[in-house]
Formats: sequence, C-alpha cells, structure tokens
Amino acid sequence: MLYSDPTYLEEVHICPYCKQKMSCCEAPPMHIGDGLGWGSEILFICLNDTCSLYVEGWKNIEEKYNHHASYRHMELPGSKEGNLMMVMSKDAFTGSVIDLEARKKQDERYRKEQQAIKDLVTCIEKKNLEPVLFLLLDEAANLSDRKKALSYLLELNDLSCIDPIRNHTFRHSELEMGCNQIIPILLKAHYKKECPHCSEIVKAQAKKCPHCKETLETT
Ligand SMILES: [Zn+2]
Ligand SMILES: [Zn+2]
Repeated sequence: MLYSDPTYLEEVHICPYCKQKMSCCEAPPMHIGDGLGWGSEILFICLNDTCSLYVEGWKNIEEKYNHHASYRHMELPGSKEGNLMMVMSKDAFTGSVIDLEARKKQDERYRKEQQAIKDLVTCIEKKNLEPVLFLLLDEAANLSDRKKALSYLLELNDLSCIDPIRNHTFRHSELEMGCNQIIPILLKAHYKKECPHCSEIVKAQAKKCPHCKETLETT
C-alpha cells in the first residue's frame, strides 16, 4: 500500500500524557457506522503501556461502564489534536505499527520504478540501459513493464547488461527465457562468447579462457 503523502511518515508526535514518541500505525479498515472513518491512512497512537491515560483508562471505563477496556491517545497526521481510541486489549494496534525503514525503502523503490517507466520511452535514442535493467531486474515491478524492458535489450545492444542479468534470479521463467535467448545474440554481435566454465565474457575465437584457463570450443 502506498500513502498519498509519504511525508506524514516523517512526522514526530509526542504523547502529551507520557511524553513518549507515538507510534505510526496503519489506520484500521473502515466500517461504516463504527466511527472509525478517520479520513487518514495512518494514525499516530501512543502505545506506551505505562502511559497515564492508558493505565487510568482501564479503571475509569470499568467504574463508569462496567466494561473491560481502556484508551490510547491518538493524533491524526498533520494535527496535534488528541483523540481517544478505545482498546479492548493491550495488543490492540500493536500489529499495525508501520515499519518506517521498510516503508521508506518501498517508497524509494516505487519512485525509481516510476522513473524507469518514464525513461523507458527514450532509452533507445539515449542508449540508456539503466531503466531497462532496473525494470527487468526488479521483481516487484509490473510484469508488463518488465516485458517491455526485455524487448529493448536487443536493440540497445549493450553487453554490460549480461553480468547483472546472469547474477539475478528471475521469478518469472518467461523473462529468464527471454534473456537466455537474447544474450547469445548480443554476444555474437560483439564477437564474444561466455566461458562455460567461469561465465566470463571472452572473445569468440578464444581457444583458452584467459580467466580460468580452461580450453574452449571455438564457434
Ligand atoms: Zn502516552
Ligand atoms: Zn573461463
């Protein structure tokens, strides 16, 4: 899931009750009628179990309503206004805490993917292998974009694509097969071949691999 405004994730909210940093959580799925429609994808919630609001909440709700529940202090992104989130257990919301580091990496990957898709349009005229390789080797990218990237590989005719492709494990056999068809054609066009023993790229006429010294078949 992507957030419409990832800068919210950078916000620091301090709980006014316990002065601890609040956790950035995914907003619970909205159910019509239960009042959980906060209009935000993320919520900042104080999950400190020694927070006075939370500790006293158990007593207050028990006395007033004869229910076993408490409150957590919550603030919406971009706001310092406090809200009370009713919780039935200590673990409520702890599973929805957003891993900010992982989140940032995902956002970064997504941005790069979008850039690569844009750059793909001009990759041939600019002889730009980068977006082609990025999409081809990005297992999280769209398959249709990756196939498109694959289709430019031959025309780009750039041997530096071979090592990264060979070092990659494809989850889609279709892409892997496509690469396996294209690589020999690229090598041939450059009068090169891959050493079957050490995988280094060597001259097509080489009888002995200069890297591993194995004897090679001449093609
Ligand atoms: Zn607190
Ligand atoms: Zn070799």
